[in-house]
Amino acid sequence: MLYSLCLMSLDMMILLIFALEYKYQDRTRLRKGEKQMRKKSKCSMCKSKAFISLKYAGIRLCKEHFKTYFINRVAKTIKKYQMIKHNEKILIGVSGGKDSIAMLHALTEILKDTNELMAVHIDLGINEYSTKSREIFNQICSTIKIENKVISIKEKYGFTINEAVRKIRRPPCSICGLIKRRILNEYALEINADKIATGHTLDDEVTFLMLNYINGNINMLLKRKPHLPKIHEKLIARIKPLCEISDLETQIYCLINNLKYIEIPCPYAQDSPILKFKKIIMQLEEIRPGTKLSLLRNFTNKIYKALESHYSDKVDQKINECIKCGYPTSQDLCAFCRLKEKVLS
Ligand code: SF4
Ligand code: ZN
Ligand code: ZN
Repeated sequence: MLYSLCLMSLDMMILLIFALEYKYQDRTRLRKGEKQMRKKSKCSMCKSKAFISLKYAGIRLCKEHFKTYFINRVAKTIKKYQMIKHNEKILIGVSGGKDSIAMLHALTEILKDTNELMAVHIDLGINEYSTKSREIFNQICSTIKIENKVISIKEKYGFTINEAVRKIRRPPCSICGLIKRRILNEYALEINADKIATGHTLDDEVTFLMLNYINGNINMLLKRKPHLPKIHEKLIARIKPLCEISDLETQIYCLINNLKYIEIPCPYAQDSPILKFKKIIMQLEEIRPGTKLSLLRNFTNKIYKALESHYSDKVDQKINECIKCGYPTSQDLCAFCRLKEKVLS
């Protein structure tokens, strides 16, 4: 599909993305949206032809100004949440999807003169999806010339995500998330990185918040911050530089900069409730532009603080160290060691 996309003009690509993103909407609204996108309008910055309208910000931008706008927003997010200090070593987790590819490119632009950067990709062993993701990762790293590493979970732990999913009765994305977090952390410790950057977008964050509000999972909500500082010598601080940028914006950034990303979905993604929730959140954003940003900012600035002061001494109080690996846990064996034992038994 990417090859056919390359033959189209950028404006047509944007229209196509628009159509794909909003395919759940009724035809009338979609036609209206397409008309709006086609309507000749001026960039709010330079008055040349605009190709994107960012309703939440009340601006229209040309290609060049969208690039600058994207980079500035990432830089502002880093500053606002005090994510990165000069000279820190940053490990950038790259799955090969549009979000992490856009993040890798933007962070390289922003931090190349001030910080040591290293990109890492985890080969999950999920058939063609993993093979293609790995290829894309290798390509971008050689294009932007960044030090990089691929870690295969099969080589490291002796099993793939496919094998783990067959053995454990638990949602695949929860197994995969646990393993990815552990690998990223272990590698960050190994190379003495100060921070781990992941490509979670505004849509990811808001979806997570909604799911955890619905489940009343305060413990998980308290772990959700754009910048999760180091709370244990074995846990490296984690940052999400794209937490205020939408999925659609990362996709457009990749297209404008000719950045290749994995287009086939992970086979486990369709069973996850996350995609369905993302669609509902997009509908809310359509009804009231800026809803996603308000949700995230109000959670981070107000609700998180209220939860923290009220609950932080009541949830997950007991912090032991895992008897096998030494990672912090509320039980004797940490969740990762329990999972590994089950898969390898
Ligand atoms: Fe892992 Fe789920 Fe993402 Fe697939 S969709 S890579 S299983 S987290
Ligand atoms: Zn412009
Ligand atoms: Zn352990």
